[in-house]
Amino acid sequence: MADTASVAGYLAALPSDKRAGLEKLRRTLKRLLPKAEECISYGIPAFRNPDGVIVYFAAMKSHLSFFPTSHPIEVCAQELKGYATSRGTIRFPIDTPLPDALVAKLVKVRLKQMAEKRAVRPQEKKGPALKVRPRLNAVWHASHPMPKNAKLPERAAWHMAHQRHCGCREIPASISAYLAQRGRGDAV
Ligand SMILES: [Zn+2]
Repeated sequence: MADTASVAGYLAALPSDKRAGLEKLRRTLKRLLPKAEECISYGIPAFRNPDGVIVYFAAMKSHLSFFPTSHPIEVCAQELKGYATSRGTIRFPIDTPLPDALVAKLVKVRLKQMAEKRAVRPQEKKGPALKVRPRLNAVWHASHPMPKNAKLPERAAWHMAHQRHCGCREIPASISAYLAQRGRGDAV
């Protein structure tokens, strides 16, 4: 019986090669985030602090994934050139761990981002719906990558779906303008 309610249970249910790859990442994260709490969020292991989830990681069918959220991936784009990334996600081979220095840099950028968000939060006006909405739905992102070379209508459709499932980013102004042009401005 798989125990998916704990990180230990999640890892125990994996084949040994995937487990070894994620255990290595988990050890690195524990060292980098000694005060963070481990948890399962959206069905996958995560580290969180009082502000929310810091990073997630997961085993996929043929690779492993690290989810430091989108901002650190943008900041570390140069270092991530050899990796397949999509918004919020870095894929890496089962038998080749992410270098500790790279994980450390991503975590550092993520913590800085969270600290900055904490600093501005009191001035933010948020409705009750936004308060309960998790900021990043990493699982949704993993299964809904933005199509490659997406044209405006596809991008708009993606953002409409994203808005319903995830709160990590606003609809970009260009997409809002496109939707408004189509008479769908009320949905934005
Ligand atoms: Zn999102």
